[in-house]
Amino acid sequence: MIRKIYKFGGASVKDADAVRNLARIVAKHKDEDILLVVSAMGKTTNMLEKVVKDFRDHNGQLGIEALKDVIDYHEGIILDLFDGDTHHPVIESVSSLFIELLEKLQQTGLDYDYQYDQTVSYGELVSTTIIQEYLNRCDVPTRWLDARKYVIAKNGSVYRSANPDWDETRLRISKLNEEHIRGIICITQGFIGGTADGKHSVTLGREGSDYTAAIFANCLDAEEVTIWKDVDGLLNADPKRFAETVKIPHISYSEAIELAFYGATIIHPKTIKPLQNKGITLKVQSFLNPDHEPSVIDGNPDPDMEKNPSYIVKDNQTLVSFSPRDYSFMDEHNLRMIFAACDDLNIHANVIQTSALMLSFCFDHDSNKLKGLIEMLRETFRIKYNQGLTLFTIRHYDYSYTMGDEFLKGKKILLQQSSRSTVQYVLGN
Ligand code: ASP
Ligand code: MG
Repeated sequence: MIRKIYKFGGASVKDADAVRNLARIVAKHKDEDILLVVSAMGKTTNMLEKVVKDFRDHNGQLGIEALKDVIDYHEGIILDLFDGDTHHPVIESVSSLFIELLEKLQQTGLDYDYQYDQTVSYGELVSTTIIQEYLNRCDVPTRWLDARKYVIAKNGSVYRSANPDWDETRLRISKLNEEHIRGIICITQGFIGGTADGKHSVTLGREGSDYTAAIFANCLDAEEVTIWKDVDGLLNADPKRFAETVKIPHISYSEAIELAFYGATIIHPKTIKPLQNKGITLKVQSFLNPDHEPSVIDGNPDPDMEKNPSYIVKDNQTLVSFSPRDYSFMDEHNLRMIFAACDDLNIHANVIQTSALMLSFCFDHDSNKLKGLIEMLRETFRIKYNQGLTLFTIRHYDYSYTMGDEFLKGKKILLQQSSRSTVQYVLGN
């Protein structure tokens, strides 16, 4: 039986030192029946997004240059890890992956989301190939699993945001428990999956590797998932933006879902449900200080802990407002039209506010989606929008405002909404 899932994100494998650190952590726990879920190295996914765009929007030359940056970056890590051995077999394996990737980039006339998934998925394929080789070299025997054969997309689910077909996914993943041999660590890719026929790759949405870890944990009936991060566990605010953060040692699944929903990037919002359904503990632990206690998320509410205010900032928001052209009220009929369009376009509203003649909501910026929304609704509604905004949420604000006041200083509040426990602001500059 596989008992534990360790998820290592991009930052934890961003260079050769980071990979060596991962190997030390894994080696220490190698008899604990672990499956590793690993992301693309560092900012590779961003780089690959640029590569696809350049291949599609410009000429092949620009695309090839962008791809070369990705190849050079990985080659540097390989040479560092394998003592400059330019003949190491891993170079051959990684080169074949890059050749496959190039072929997929050179195909023309494909739907953008489809081509994105066929290409960007190579970030994870390459990273896990390198890390598997390195772990084997460190006497940590590993078995490489192609996540595209295990995490199977639901029929008709969309590219770049695929949903698993749970029955098929469970059928395939649960076999791993029977095949498992203690002492052999399984390693697979986060973020990616495949169609049931094995012909196409899909991705689960940016930062989706946490979700992958939860999918495997759920289907394997694992005991716990550990997300290894560059912070000391769950904090009540992003230390890159707030000077005084506090560690949250323990919270319940539902509190964690709330935080992730508002944009706490520490956990992908879809991660909690598959864990909650099976009562699997989630730990958030520092890969820089692996001896420090992790933060723990489980089914036990912790009313005292949940009094601590949390501050969550989500950038790159677009606020869009609709008013019926015929001055009819913003009634259920109009609301239905607008939300049907959101549903069709896969737009998720982060905050919604209505008045007699207006509906406003903000969503994560995506120019194609915004364009689609305007095209679908402009005949019936006057539509205004504002881009480049920030959504700021304070959870449990009633207990303290101070850090929030500091953040709000000098910013323009475009929309504000509060419930008993949570206050949200959409902010411009
Ligand atoms: N590599 C993917 C991303 O950067 C998935 C992940 O890191 O979770 O979005
Ligand atoms: Mg990441």
